Amino acid sequence: MTPRKNKIITIDGPSGAGKSTIARLLASTAGYTYIDSGAIYRGVAYAYKMRKNEETIGELLEGLPLSFEFGSDTRVTLAGEDISGEIRQPDISLLASSLSQEQIVRDYANAVQRRLAGQGKVVLEGRDTGSVVFPDADIKFYLDARPEERASRRHNELTLKGSGPTLSAVKEDMEKRDRNDSERAIAPLVVPPGAIVLDTTGADVQGVLRMVLAHLEKEDHP
Ligand code: C5P
Repeated sequence: MTPRKNKIITIDGPSGAGKSTIARLLASTAGYTYIDSGAIYRGVAYAYKMRKNEETIGELLEGLPLSFEFGSDTRVTLAGEDISGEIRQPDISLLASSLSQEQIVRDYANAVQRRLAGQGKVVLEGRDTGSVVFPDADIKFYLDARPEERASRRHNELTLKGSGPTLSAVKEDMEKRDRNDSERAIAPLVVPPGAIVLDTTGADVQGVLRMVLAHLEKEDHP
């Protein structure tokens, strides 16, 4: 399936709703680039954790040697060092969630996304890609699922990757991040105006992908 024009497609929602799996599959089906905006927040959080001096976040962001390669996998480097694995650690998830409340961090992440996605043919995934970063996106999705299912998906994902937090630790971490993301003053997690809301509870990946593709098809051939 190739959409008829170079579209900007956004997928937002809380963690564990299935956004990254669907965004990655959709991008590869459509021949689009998958942009995982969470990796930008995670990259900043990792750089902040590793900073040598007591730099403020503003000082750190000036000339920060962080770079991103968005493809079927997301590759993040800091001063040439590959940190793609490190940014997935649970302590970085929480630090990213807390730093993402700062406007200066959001400005940095938004600039990266707009620079990379401006020409279209992209699937962006995150918390505010359809509400703030690209409010005029061609098509916006909002994926959600019941909290217990989101926690167990996250837990399975982390177990497969070899890091072993317990299900209750994952659930606690997720609830904390959900709260931070939904209650923050700037760019909180919301259903973007005009978004198609899909509840993925109990649905398998192929089923959700089919729903998403059907909506895209409808857009092209109303
Ligand atoms: O999606 P992921 O779990 O990798 O994102 C890590 C954190 O980055 C989220 O918990 C959220 O606080 C922040 N984030 C954000 N806006 C986005 C993407 C991620 O605030 N568009």
